[in-house]
Amino acid sequence: MAHNVIIIGSGPAGYTAAIYLGRAGLDPVMVTGALTPGGQLVNTTEVENFPGFPDGIMGPELMDNMRAQAKRFGTEFIADDVTAIESAGSDDAPLYRLALSDGETLETRAVIITTGSNFRKLGVPGEVELSGHGVSYCATCDGFFFRDKPIVVVGGGDSAFEEALFLTRFGSSVTLIHRRDEFRASQIMVDRAKENPKLTLLTNTVVTEIHGTETAPAAPAAPALNLGGLALKPKPQVNVSSVSLKNTVTGETSELETAAVFVAIGHTPATDFAASVASRDEDGYIIVDGASTRTSTPGIFAAGDCVDCVYRQAISAAGMGCRAALDAQEYLSE
Ligand SMILES: Cc1cc2nc3c(=O)[nH]c(=O)nc-3n(C[C@H](O)[C@H](O)[C@H](O)COP(=O)(O)OP(=O)(O)OC[C@H]3O[C@@H](n4cnc5c(N)ncnc54)[C@H](O)[C@@H]3O)c2cc1C
Repeated sequence: MAHNVIIIGSGPAGYTAAIYLGRAGLDPVMVTGALTPGGQLVNTTEVENFPGFPDGIMGPELMDNMRAQAKRFGTEFIADDVTAIESAGSDDAPLYRLALSDGETLETRAVIITTGSNFRKLGVPGEVELSGHGVSYCATCDGFFFRDKPIVVVGGGDSAFEEALFLTRFGSSVTLIHRRDEFRASQIMVDRAKENPKLTLLTNTVVTEIHGTETAPAAPAAPALNLGGLALKPKPQVNVSSVSLKNTVTGETSELETAAVFVAIGHTPATDFAASVASRDEDGYIIVDGASTRTSTPGIFAAGDCVDCVYRQAISAAGMGCRAALDAQEYLSE
C-alpha cells in the first residue's frame, strides 16, 4: 500500500512538516535517519534563539518536544536511512519508491526531503570532545556565549569571513586562521576584515589541537547533593582554553589562548540519495522552485538545510518545513 507522504529526516524541518501533515489528516510517515534522529540540534547544548522558550532550551529537549508533537498528530516513525528514491507508477498516478538501508522499500505519493547538511570538521584532537563547550560550527547560534572573550575562527571562504566579522560584535578579539596565504573569500570581505581593529588574519597556519581546561560550575555553585552520606558535587565543565597552531610554511608551532573555536570550512548537504529525482546545485543543495519547496520532480518537495545554504537556523528550517507540508498537501489534493 502506498503512503500519502513520506518525510525523510527528523530535524526541525521534518518534524514541522509532520505536525502540519498529521493535523491535515494525511498520516505522514517519517524516516528519521538511523544515526542522528533529531538532527543537528541533538548535538548542541543550549538553544537560546528558538522562539517560545524565554529561558532557552537544551537542543535534545527541543527535538524531543518536536517529536512528541509530531507523534501526537499520528506520525509513524521509521528509524532508518533512505538510500535511493526512484519513480514508480505512471504519469497519471505518480508514485515514488524509497529504498531503506535495511533492504526494505516504501511506496508513497509524495516525498518531503529534509535531510539537512553536515558541517565539515577539522578532524583534530579535542574537536569532538569540546563540541558544545567552545567548539562551534555556527556563529549566529553561539557567538552570544563568548562576550568579551578571545575567539578563533577557522576557514578562508566568505562564510568564515562573515562569521568572523559577526563575532567581532561579541569577542574581545577574533583571530581568523587559514591554511593558505590566499583567501577564497571575496576581496570586499577580506578588505572589511582588514579594516576591523578587533580582527586578526593568520595565514599559512593550521590548528593541530584544541585544548580545554576545567571551569568551575556557574556561580552561585549549586549546593552539593547529599544522598545518604554520599556527597555529590556538581561536575566541573571542561571548556576550550587554547589551540595549538602550526605554520604550514616554516613548520613553526605555537599556542594561542582562546575561549572558542568556530569552524567555518563548509557544509555538505545530505542529498546524494536523491540525485536522480531532485536537481541539485554544484555544492549538492537541492534546487527548489522560487519561494516554494517544489523540486524538479512533481510530488517531491525539499526543505531546511538541505536546500538553504544561507540561513541555516532551526527556525528557518522549521518555517520551510511548514511550507513543504502545505505544498505537499496542495499537490495531494489535486
Ligand atoms: C552544534 C550546532 C548548534 C546549533 N545551534 C543552533 C541554535 O542555537 N539555533 C538555531 O536556530 N540553529 C542552530 N543550529 C543550526 C540548526 O541545527 C540547523 O539549522 C537545523 O537543525 C536544520 O534543520 P533541518 O531540519 O534542515 O536538518 P537537520 O537538523 O540537519 O536534520 C536532518 C535530519 O535528516 C536525517 N537524515 C540525513 N540523511 C538521511 C537519510 N538518507 N535518510 C533518512 N534521514 C536522513 C538526519 O538523521 C537528521 O535527522 C546549530 C547547528 C549545530 C551543528
